[in-house]
Amino acid sequence: ALLVVVAAAAGLAGAFADSVLGATVQAMYRCRACGSETERAVHCGAPAEQVRGLRLMTNDLVNLCASAVAGAVAAGLGLWLTG
Ligand SMILES: [Zn+2]
Repeated sequence: ALLVVVAAAAGLAGAFADSVLGATVQAMYRCRACGSETERAVHCGAPAEQVRGLRLMTNDLVNLCASAVAGAVAAGLGLWLTG
C-alpha cells in the first residue's frame, strides 16, 4: 500500500512540475504563418517567433525535469516513510 501512495504522490508531483515549468520557463513560439501558439521553434515549415520562456527549455527538457522531480519525490518519500 505504501508503494501505491509513493507512486501516486510522485506522479502528481511530476505532473505538477510539468505544468508549472510548461507555463513559466518552457519556450513558446507563435507561428508567423498560421498565427497559432506552439512549443516548436519551427511551424508550418518556417521559423516561429519566440513569445516567452527560455529558448533552451524545450518540451523534452521540461518533461525530463518533471521526471526528475517525480523521481526525487518518490525517493524522498520512500526514504521518509521507511525511515
Ligand atoms: Zn503554423
